[in-house]
Amino acid sequence: MTIILDGKKLRDKIFENLKTKLDKMPKKPTLAVILAGDDPSSKIYVNNKKKCAEKLGINSIVITYPQNVSEKELLDKIQELNNDKEITAILVQLPLPAHINKSNVINTISPQKDVDGLTNYNSGKIFSGEKPYVYPCTPLGIMLLLEEYNIEIEGKHVVVIGRSNLVGKPIAQMLLNRNATVTQCHSKTKNLPEITKTADIIISAVGKNIVGENMINKNCVVIDVGIFKDEVGKISGDVDFEKVSKIASYISPVPGGVGPMTIASLMLNTVELFNS
Ligand code: NAP
Repeated sequence: MTIILDGKKLRDKIFENLKTKLDKMPKKPTLAVILAGDDPSSKIYVNNKKKCAEKLGINSIVITYPQNVSEKELLDKIQELNNDKEITAILVQLPLPAHINKSNVINTISPQKDVDGLTNYNSGKIFSGEKPYVYPCTPLGIMLLLEEYNIEIEGKHVVVIGRSNLVGKPIAQMLLNRNATVTQCHSKTKNLPEITKTADIIISAVGKNIVGENMINKNCVVIDVGIFKDEVGKISGDVDFEKVSKIASYISPVPGGVGPMTIASLMLNTVELFNS
């Protein structure tokens, strides 16, 4: 029988524990989120993050900028937040407007306040097999989901589809650090189904309907990171859930899998940075 990796249930459990912890803390963390531009999905994500933080008792501020904000304005604001003792965590909502250099912006965040673990300092730590201040939220959420369901990593063949700095690269490295044998695939990979069929675990972070039943071996664990609107405007993941769930041993749904775990990780990281 296929087991659904229930990200909502685990998020709620994490929130309950965090709330108990936060209730006992005399001073609370403050998360600052920078939202630049008018991407409608980003606005919804930022709003959800703020609501979650407030529910848990984490202070949060959202600083918004129009689409035509200059890079200098963003860098100056981040420096100001870095120097502000009241601000304990900083998140820059991605994507940024096209004229802004994403790397410059992210790497201006102080590594000790880099709540999404994306600065070169924190990702460099992961790639050296050392502990960063915090791990990137989505990869951390995936690791927590695997842990919750006691899915073994060591010695397993994990195929990661996607190689972004946000998801694909860090999750591949984090799994390698846990002694998985990792194959990283991308848009130029040849014979993807032949590779995925040899996987014990598939993690797909692409943003297109790409993983079908022809790509899965029986008993494979399938983690779907992708989330996008399909042609008819319905929220979809990378995986053909209906068909693949008949073959996989474990599968994460979209919505309700990795998405809630990303926000749970953000709240965990906010508290972790405050206490470190
Ligand atoms: P991204 O930066 O666009 O990266 C997509 C990756 O997919 C790239 O590495 C690309 O390869 C690869 N790719 C594209 N077409 C492919 C194909 N036909 N075969 C194999 N690989 C292919 O995206 P991202 O930021 O990593 O996000 C990926 C998806 O996850 C998106 O749907 C995003 O919305 C979702 N996401 C969800 C959460 C969550 O919390 N649920 C968090 C973050 C992201 P190349 O490098 O060769 O171009």
